Amino acid sequence: MFYLPILITNKLTVVYFPSIVSITATQSSRRKFVDSYAIPGSAKLKIQVSDNVILRPKNNGDLLLIVKIDGIHGTQQMKNVKIRARWYYWPEDTSQGRRFFRGLRELFLSDHSEDHYVECIDGKCKVRTFNEYQELNLVMDDDFFWRFQYLHTERKLTPESVEVFCICKTPLNPDLRMILCDGCQDWFHLYCINVSLEESTRISHYYGAC
Ligand SMILES: [Zn+2]
Ligand SMILES: [Zn+2]
Repeated sequence: MFYLPILITNKLTVVYFPSIVSITATQSSRRKFVDSYAIPGSAKLKIQVSDNVILRPKNNGDLLLIVKIDGIHGTQQMKNVKIRARWYYWPEDTSQGRRFFRGLRELFLSDHSEDHYVECIDGKCKVRTFNEYQELNLVMDDDFFWRFQYLHTERKLTPESVEVFCICKTPLNPDLRMILCDGCQDWFHLYCINVSLEESTRISHYYGAC
């Protein structure tokens, strides 16, 4: 039941409009979903479902707010347009914190979604797979990567284990220099085997203590 007070001939009268109320409620909940949308007035930024974008405010401390667009929706006239945004978590945002085998540009694709107005979008970025990221010759400011997903209610990363390398038995960090042992074919961090970057350029074949 919904009562709308209206003023008729200086007397406050309560009038009941059941049909109007139900139509309004249905219209406001029926959102139109689209695959792409050109944001008006934002330097011709056109977004698509599955794009990765940076939100305003641009950072939380030093960390950019990066989300994946899982949906774009607005009213039937495409007003109040929002994105269904799936958060990328930084290692710092998780209970594990940042550990040394995490890349500087490593994100975790989470299962945490929120709706945000398209006006909050600051620009696009690229969140690549681990293999794509490793193949880059040049890493640009808008390049990031992910290899783990983060289940935010369980505070758990998946997969729980990946291949490990070196005497420190840790996953690859694409930002740390490694050298291949010709004996065991394992990769070793330069700092774990006490080899400087300069020395490593002179080593053509490395044999560890294997
Ligand atoms: Zn190591
Ligand atoms: Zn070896």
